[in-house]
Amino acid sequence: MGFGNRVYNFSAGPSMLPLEVLEKVRDDLLNYAGSGMSVMEMSHRSKIYDSIINEAEANLRELMGIPENYKVLFLQGGATLQFSMIPMNLLRNSRKADYVVTGTWAEKAAQEASKFGDVAITASSKDKLFTYVPKVSRADFRPDADYAYITMNNTIYGSRYSYVPDTGDVPLVCDWSSGILSEGIDVSRFGLIYAGAQKNIAPAGVTIVIIREDLVGHAPKGTPVYMDYRTHADNGSMYNTPPAFTIYVAGEVFKHLKAMGGVAAQERFNREKAGKLYGYIDGSRLYRAPVEKDSRSLMNVVFVTGDEALDKKFVAEAREEGLLDLNGHRSIGGMRASIYNAMPMEGVDRLIAFMERFEAANLK
Ligand SMILES: *Cc1c(COP(=O)(O)O)cnc(C)c1O
Repeated sequence: MGFGNRVYNFSAGPSMLPLEVLEKVRDDLLNYAGSGMSVMEMSHRSKIYDSIINEAEANLRELMGIPENYKVLFLQGGATLQFSMIPMNLLRNSRKADYVVTGTWAEKAAQEASKFGDVAITASSKDKLFTYVPKVSRADFRPDADYAYITMNNTIYGSRYSYVPDTGDVPLVCDWSSGILSEGIDVSRFGLIYAGAQKNIAPAGVTIVIIREDLVGHAPKGTPVYMDYRTHADNGSMYNTPPAFTIYVAGEVFKHLKAMGGVAAQERFNREKAGKLYGYIDGSRLYRAPVEKDSRSLMNVVFVTGDEALDKKFVAEAREEGLLDLNGHRSIGGMRASIYNAMPMEGVDRLIAFMERFEAANLK
């Protein structure tokens, strides 16, 4: 399967989708399953759309092993809206929430939550520029907190939890926007897992919220109707018009993932891709990966040369070769190769080949 005129897109998001899925979407575009119309034009109340969203949910449940007592919601507003929805719904008793700050997204989430309740920063890795994920356990969290909060994969700094923190009876909430479906996880360890779609699942426009049933229904009176999880749980994510086309693409990605062997197969592939790239970086003389080894992200590989001008040159020359968006986040600079689920091995191999040539030409 050739890539023809397509590039390898290392963007942190929106990011690459599996080519097979794009081809299927193209084939379905004008006439979905004999309906005579595109999914874009279809009533979300139609029978045919019902089967699209139900199948998407069933396949996600199967892929992630989501227990029966969890709701799966398809929402809008991006991961960012969850920064507000989570405290609005989950601050229900002590109105305390404990956040572990491992990067910009966790910082933003904590800041937003502090508008609604008593937010404590349980631990932070800011002391070392977010180059590691702290080890936290039950004793670090306030036992009466309404929830504890982590960012599972830190998209900007390229770190990730290699463990699930034990929070005791305090429900654990997790932003998994840039890692969902990249590796296996025990959903029952969490109260709520959420993810924006545009990294590992679909185009932007849908946010998936997986929430334990006992956490639904606590939003205070006066909560705007869209912001109450109960609204969406009680209406099968169809209280209002859902992002219908994006959910359909997500469903196609889930089918694709099942066909390739599920999350376990995807995880093996991701470990192989990331292992190869980090292995090359660690053995090179020009590049350095700043994140501590046991905290390294499988999805976002951050590296630097130590010379800002040279980093810029790297990004520009890579672009010329069809290796796109290798610049680090605007807040930290350097390089970042986002190698989400859909990045083929060939993309990683081509990146490493380019890095070797660039090193040979630029090493002083
Ligand atoms: C991309 C990202 C976000 C922001 O997502 P939006 O959909 O743009 O709101 C939040 N958290 C993490 C971990 C992300 O990677």
